[in-house]
Amino acid sequence: MPMPKESNDVLAKAGEYLEEIKRLASEPFTIMEVCGTHTVAIAKNALRDILPPTVRLISGPGCPVCVTDSSDIDRYLYLAAQPNMITVTFGDMIRVPGSKKNLQALKAEGADVRVVYSTQDALEIAHKNPDKDVVFLGVGFETTAPTVAISLEIAQRDGINNFSVLSMHKVVPPVLRLLAEDEQLDVDAFLDPGHVCAIIGTQPIEFMAKEFGKPGVVTGFEALDILEAIVMLLRQREEGRSDIEIQYRRVAKAEGNPYAQTVVKRVFEPVDASWRGMGLIPGSGLGIREEFGPWDAIRKYSLPVFHSPETPGCQCGEVLKGRIYPTQCALFGKRCTPLKPVGPCMVSSEGSCAAYYRYSQRS
Ligand code: SF4
Repeated sequence: MPMPKESNDVLAKAGEYLEEIKRLASEPFTIMEVCGTHTVAIAKNALRDILPPTVRLISGPGCPVCVTDSSDIDRYLYLAAQPNMITVTFGDMIRVPGSKKNLQALKAEGADVRVVYSTQDALEIAHKNPDKDVVFLGVGFETTAPTVAISLEIAQRDGINNFSVLSMHKVVPPVLRLLAEDEQLDVDAFLDPGHVCAIIGTQPIEFMAKEFGKPGVVTGFEALDILEAIVMLLRQREEGRSDIEIQYRRVAKAEGNPYAQTVVKRVFEPVDASWRGMGLIPGSGLGIREEFGPWDAIRKYSLPVFHSPETPGCQCGEVLKGRIYPTQCALFGKRCTPLKPVGPCMVSSEGSCAAYYRYSQRS
């Protein structure tokens, strides 16, 4: 059966990009993809296997579930175990192991844990269960924060007082700075996260190119997007430039999304946050402002701070910092598989370990 014209067009374009990459990559060039969705797209399309050996792609800390610290996981497990509590979360969180168990195990023991697809669903659960406390686990980057902010504004406006959010949201620019300052990290350039930059724009990450000489391209999530972005980064090297450019022009603008930025600022404020394997990063989290205190689970339940160890043997932290490939973890594919994950990088649909396991990868 003949291939549809669109498929031929895609293949022809991919071929053009690959030819250009080969021409431009006579010298080694290492690129970090910051975003977990890029990691999955690269793995699914076997891009590592078709790039010339001089171009190395390594994965970074762009999966929000994976970077959630063990202490935060134990904290929400503690909250979920409280009487009269309904814990509401997005799907991946339910299987992420804390130091003793995960939400799935807690649910099996009788805790009321529910998976939702939107914060609207979470508000609906609170509305329908007025005699229960409903807590939403807020995990995500700048892309998720606006809808969670809106849910808090609705809860405040409508007096939905049995609803609260445990905010574990994180923002990307501070972790990029940490990576740029990491002398052990051998990276020439970055594929910057398309959806995060669609919200924040490019200004908050300009310092990567100007201060640290690490060019970046805000990239979409199709194979052609990623190949084009690699061409753009290599051209910057050829021309001796270091800029933040946008490949994902159909979605991301230099100014980002001012409405979403305003909503987030109204509800959240910058706080220091712990990242798995990377420690406390100043200003890298989003805490709920005092005005929304009655809907902030940390204040509402006077939540204790946990100091939980990393899962023994799991090297998620090293994977997230780009120091090792997932396949270099001794547990990869042996004790740790998607069916029996040891660490969050194997649980999450955007986790590097899961992506490497699901799709055979060159490393
Ligand atoms: Fe952690 Fe499993 Fe990945 Fe190893 S393979 S780093 S144990 S998630």
